[in-house]
Amino acid sequence: MASFEYNENTQRVLFGQDSLAKLPSELAKLGCSKPLILTTPTKTSYVDDIASLLDGRIAGSFTRVTMHTPTDVTEDALKHCKSVNADCLVSIGGGSAVGLGKALFVRTGLPHITVPTTYAGSEMTPIVGQTENRVKTTHVDRKAIPAVVIYDVNLTLTLPAKISATSGLNAMAHAVEALYAQDGNPIASMFAVKGIQTLATSLPRIMQNPQDVDARSDALLGAWFCGKCLAGVGVSLHHKLCHVLGGTFNLPHAETHAIILPHAVAYLAPSIPETMKVLAENIPDSEGNAVNGLNRLLSKLGITYSLGDLGLKEEDIDLAVTTLLKKPFWSPRPIEGDLIRELLRRAWEGKPA
Ligand code: NAD
Repeated sequence: MASFEYNENTQRVLFGQDSLAKLPSELAKLGCSKPLILTTPTKTSYVDDIASLLDGRIAGSFTRVTMHTPTDVTEDALKHCKSVNADCLVSIGGGSAVGLGKALFVRTGLPHITVPTTYAGSEMTPIVGQTENRVKTTHVDRKAIPAVVIYDVNLTLTLPAKISATSGLNAMAHAVEALYAQDGNPIASMFAVKGIQTLATSLPRIMQNPQDVDARSDALLGAWFCGKCLAGVGVSLHHKLCHVLGGTFNLPHAETHAIILPHAVAYLAPSIPETMKVLAENIPDSEGNAVNGLNRLLSKLGITYSLGDLGLKEEDIDLAVTTLLKKPFWSPRPIEGDLIRELLRRAWEGKPA
């Protein structure tokens, strides 16, 4: 076996139904008593839930969490955090809420407890993203991995089927890229296989019954495994392309990841035969062809729309290609502008990979 390096997280993780009830004792363990609650505008009810759990003892809340972590929103949140004299951060919601928690941690050093309610996986990673002047950038800061993660399965029961599907595929993409990462290793691959298998089987069950607690538990566990993949190894074509589409054209994060996944895999397929075999073995209905398996999974999950439907204009495709080519990254197959343009055109039209 080849030598490898692996960074292990030092997080505390609480998983299960009703685990949010343990928030008061987790805050006490950290010696914190004045949390700033961070969430999205549509989920302000989370602030009331947490305030009630803590008998009203919160420093305040910031409910303008925005996708792709724009720096102006982060600066507003930072001012608010200082003005209410918070002694810790509690982010609750999807990857956008977790992202603001990380961005504030980087600026304040305050302990960060996160309660993820989608399958994005950011809670497990040291990746801090931000968007400024239409350019999304990320950097790795291992200290920014949230100190405590509370996975409360009950909170995911309200996640609409459509967002469950797309954020689940966002998570699966972390695992897929770990299988062919330049710095891949057996630990990340183990999480990747289990994460892909778990999500590929639980997401269709959630589509049939979004209240299926067992399927929800499996999906949340799968998202945890996939998040660990992204924490441990570098990303390639799939994530880089999605960053361009999200940062430059403000396309929605999870939907973009979901649409691009089979196309990115199809592009890389000639250079990643081992990964293609593992994917075909773990994605139901692949019948020996992982791209077909992914296409069928997307269709089962109702992801039949295109990048065009998400708002990308045909004339944006060229700018997307040149922006991608300006971002140097490792890829198992060389990145060729003409072929990426073709990939994007198919995804823009909504054709299968
Ligand atoms: P999101 O956090 O923007 O949430 C999408 C929508 O779902 C929001 O309106 C939110 O209020 C709603 N929502 C969340 N949980 C809900 C629930 N349980 N019930 C009902 N509604 C709910 O979207 P996302 O896909 O979770 O995260 C995307 C963001 O995460 C992007 O900004 C992306 O860059 C970031 N991300 C970062 C990493 C990382 O490692 N740094 C990894 C993955 C994603």
